[in-house]
Amino acid sequence: MRDPASFSPPSGAVLERFARIVGAQHVLTDAEAMAPYLREWRDRYVGRAAAVLRPGSEEEVAALLKVAHEADVAIVPQGGNTGLVGGQIPYESGAEVVLSLSRLNRVLDIDLDNDTMTLQAGVILADAQTAAKEASRLFPLSLAAEGSCQIGGNLATNAGGLNVIAYGTARAQCLALRAVLADGSVVGSLNGLRKDNTGYDLRDVLIGSEGTLGVITAAVMRLFPAVTDRAVAFAGMESPAEAVSLLTFFRERLQCGVLTAFELMSHLGLSFAVKHLGLRAPLAAPTPWYVLVELSGHGAAGAVMAEMERILGDAFEAGLIEDAALAQNEGQAEAFWRLREGMSEAQKYEGGSIKNDIAVPVSRIAEFIETANARVQALVPGARPVPFGHLGDGNLHYNISQPPDMSREAFLSRWDAVVEAVNEVVLALGGSISAEHGIGRMKRQWLARIKSPAEIALMRQLKQAFDPKGILNPGKLLP
Ligand code: FAD
Ligand code: ZN
Repeated sequence: MRDPASFSPPSGAVLERFARIVGAQHVLTDAEAMAPYLREWRDRYVGRAAAVLRPGSEEEVAALLKVAHEADVAIVPQGGNTGLVGGQIPYESGAEVVLSLSRLNRVLDIDLDNDTMTLQAGVILADAQTAAKEASRLFPLSLAAEGSCQIGGNLATNAGGLNVIAYGTARAQCLALRAVLADGSVVGSLNGLRKDNTGYDLRDVLIGSEGTLGVITAAVMRLFPAVTDRAVAFAGMESPAEAVSLLTFFRERLQCGVLTAFELMSHLGLSFAVKHLGLRAPLAAPTPWYVLVELSGHGAAGAVMAEMERILGDAFEAGLIEDAALAQNEGQAEAFWRLREGMSEAQKYEGGSIKNDIAVPVSRIAEFIETANARVQALVPGARPVPFGHLGDGNLHYNISQPPDMSREAFLSRWDAVVEAVNEVVLALGGSISAEHGIGRMKRQWLARIKSPAEIALMRQLKQAFDPKGILNPGKLLP
């Protein structure tokens, strides 16, 4: 694939053409004005750019790309800049141009009969959720970055998050989209059809393409009935295997409501959150593992709480759980969720952390944790794995805190070896080395190892067909 270093910065004349399209105030070239677009929140990736473009409409996106294509300018699409694999950050050459979708931030339509919401790509996820709520509907996509990430970014990364167990990933929630290709041509429609078997589905190729095939400008997303009833519980158990059995137990017994979250935490992770974030442990006595369970209902308040009590009572009788606490009000429910959402942050206080975003079949979660823990221990004795995450999706954030008596630098210098070992376990179990964060810049070299030569060749041909000059997000995703 084309090397990002093969591009030259746009000439002054090209920058002027950009300015004629979007207005000079939306072509940022000043270092200070560009700075927020050039680094991501952890400062893991910091890039340089010749300019940041801020179009205000799909027409402007198309006109900008037409010029970029003619002038051979590399374009890095960027949404809310919350991506965790560096896909939205330009390389260090300073020749690339960032295309920010932030000004395409309008909710275009809410169609209650079709049960859909049409959004421009730059709508912030939390704003989309609020718009749905105001229309007495649920837009279920939800992740910790929802205050900043954008619908276009969510689709470009096929974001997952907290409700996937019930509503699927961003892909499953998207009915249609529009995108601008590298040469400025516009594809897709906003018809919002639930059935449309008219040939290859370009929507599904663009979803998860991480800005390498086209710039998503708008999408039609599914809506769901508003949640009027909710129950959140925290259950403690001996092992991940019991947590998986509890999930099956819930699936088999649930009579009313929807299982909307099933999140695993270890006692070590919980103790970090209690110690460093000032949060309270929900159960009187510690157990080695915990699960946060959420049930949502669409009827009268209280029904799913009764369901939760019944099923957890049965699970206790069956010896699957040691103890459980049911949130008695919204405040307690939020407190349980804060423990789960604080897992990553709490780890920061324990020194360096090596992170993996993996998925295996749910039935192999326990085997994964056991085998990966052993491999990590063998490599770095005393390392402390803190697995947590979306057990219901088979997706764990398998983060590993450094041994307390090791230096942060020494531990982090083992990053590649540890990730290599973890990924070997993942692949042996038929899993994925990137469950929800994508490939971006960080995992690019892995792609050639996990896809067959035929798959890589086909991906390259797709790239060639969508973006023959290779101007869209060069050096990302494809090896
Ligand atoms: P950006 O970071 O701006 O871009 C991400 C990628 O998409 C880049 O490759 C970029 O080029 C491309 N892109 C962006 N917009 C467009 C567009 N309009 N057209 C084409 N390409 C585009 N992710 C999850 O899946 N689940 C989680 O639970 C989760 N939790 C997170 C928690 C925190 C605290 C943080 C910081 C991140 C988390 N993420 C999670 C990762 C991130 O939030 C998601 O990947 C999100 O979907 C990215 O959206 P964004 O708008 O910020 O995109
Ligand atoms: Zn996650």
